[in-house]
Amino acid sequence: MSSVPVAVVTGSNKGIGLAIVRALCKQFPGDVYLTSRDPGRGQAAVAQLQQEGLRPLFHQLDIDDLQSIRALRDFLKEKYGGLNVLVNNAGIAFKVHDTTPFAVQAEVTLKTNFFGTRNVCTELLPLMKPYGRVVNVSSMVSSSALGRCSQELQQKFRSDTITEDELVQLMTKFVEDTKKSVHEKEGWPNTAYGVSKIGVTVLSRIQARLLNEQRKGDHILLNACCPGWVRTDMAGPKATKSPDEGADTPVYLALLPSSADAPHGQFVSDKTVRAW
Ligand code: NAP
Repeated sequence: MSSVPVAVVTGSNKGIGLAIVRALCKQFPGDVYLTSRDPGRGQAAVAQLQQEGLRPLFHQLDIDDLQSIRALRDFLKEKYGGLNVLVNNAGIAFKVHDTTPFAVQAEVTLKTNFFGTRNVCTELLPLMKPYGRVVNVSSMVSSSALGRCSQELQQKFRSDTITEDELVQLMTKFVEDTKKSVHEKEGWPNTAYGVSKIGVTVLSRIQARLLNEQRKGDHILLNACCPGWVRTDMAGPKATKSPDEGADTPVYLALLPSSADAPHGQFVSDKTVRAW
């Protein structure tokens, strides 16, 4: 078994994820795994970074596929006996003018952004080694969407005692409510992406709390973040940050020094803790 530290970035064949891998290859003292649901796109991205003189490793990972997540888990367990850095970056967003019915957009978006990310956490968080760092890439849109939820929902999403099961029930209810076209009446904002990212931010707060309760002595730090508005296939060419600039905050959180005990369980943008 290798004692080399190991970092994994989900959805890293392009965009912000690829930029996070690039920065980690330069700064993380260990093996860095670029992962992609499609091995061809993943290997092409590895080749691109190799052209830059970097040496990322590759592993397939589709966060919608539990078997794929478990194959990565087993690989990490066997080869490294765990994991030091996990960046949950993979995500999707329908374009603003996409005509796919809203209920379908809700189901598909929540499936990857919330349920897929949660499944990765369920399988990989138990592998985190002492002083491990976990970064869940959310969005400022989670904050704006939270502000457009009913008071009752806002209270639940800001609660310091909400459980993962309760969060899963709420995310499931959103999808069901969109199918019945009652989501706005039920207090939800009209944004599937926004609700999915509320789920990611709240999940991060819950997971950080559980780490405090169950693994306090391991000094693991887990945070949600927003990379900013970044020029990628998702956000388009008018966005203000380059992918490398978008990687700054996720990488800062991934490389928090072992002496740090904060931030933890926070929502961070531009390397600054934001109110939730
Ligand atoms: P992007 O260029 O569209 O890249 C998204 C990445 O996620 C791609 O590698 C994509 O792989 C991967 N992915 C999607 N579904 C996946 C799945 N089921 N399993 C594994 N990988 C999957 O988007 P981006 O702008 O870099 O976004 C990265 C993250 O930042 C997302 O979580 C996004 O919500 C968040 N974010 C972005 C912005 C922004 O302005 N760009 C702002 C706030 C937050 P494929 O190539 O196979 O599709």
